[in-house]
Amino acid sequence: MIIKILTLFPKMLDSIFHHSILGRAQSKGSVAIEAVNIRDFSASKHNSVDDYPFGGGCGMVMTPQPIIDAHQAVLKNITSDEKIRTIYCTPKGKVFNQELARELSKEKALIFLCGHYEGVDQRVIDELVTDEISIGDYVLTGGELPAAVMIDSVVRLLPGVLSQEESYEDESFYNGLLEYPHYTRPREFRGNNVPDVLLSGDHAKIDEWRRCQSLKETWLKRPDLLEKKQLKKNEKKCLKKIQEALEKEEM
Ligand code: SAM
Repeated sequence: MIIKILTLFPKMLDSIFHHSILGRAQSKGSVAIEAVNIRDFSASKHNSVDDYPFGGGCGMVMTPQPIIDAHQAVLKNITSDEKIRTIYCTPKGKVFNQELARELSKEKALIFLCGHYEGVDQRVIDELVTDEISIGDYVLTGGELPAAVMIDSVVRLLPGVLSQEESYEDESFYNGLLEYPHYTRPREFRGNNVPDVLLSGDHAKIDEWRRCQSLKETWLKRPDLLEKKQLKKNEKKCLKKIQEALEKEEM
């Protein structure tokens, strides 16, 4: 996959993508990520990239020319038969989630546009943006962190990026549930023991325990997810048991 990020602060992103799993994914050639400085494309005398908003009001707005030119330059360097998605990071966008990460991970190339100040001139959005995406209902200073969040979650889904042990298939949201709890050494820590079933070596029982714990976590922390999930017969049974046990605890 090719990922280009149009930004006024490329250095903010460089370190993020050169470490850990993302760094490894780049070394292996699974993804090539490049942060492109929008300012380099400014045709103005002082390389300016923003101006006062028409109609008044506070803050500055990113001007269209440098963004459109940067976008065109980036597009020229990507060969693809399909239309390349250009994502504008904005609090006004569709809220990002695992499903969207999975959808984006199927693309051959992605372009992210990071806004700053009050955001970008609307004509940029009208002309080149295919997706407006938010990472949550709050406002950040710029689009760099949102772009990094989305890119991280997309890249780890690319084939071969995670090893077998790091597989995402048991992870939260993959199958519409939160993940089960994890335990590691020591077996006993400050009087608290690892659940016996995890030491039993019985993989069928471990799987069943994990499935039930996953339902329990979801029921306790994100019951809204269960409303969207079609539970299998055995999952319904397990959830009922959990709910009954929790009710008893409360009494
Ligand atoms: N004036 C904009 C508004 O009220 O919708 C907010 C602009 S914000 C200060 C500057 C830039 O940060 C935005 O253009 C966007 O690129 C980025 N940004 C801020 N919050 C974001 C969020 N929740 N998700 C994605 N991008 C965000």
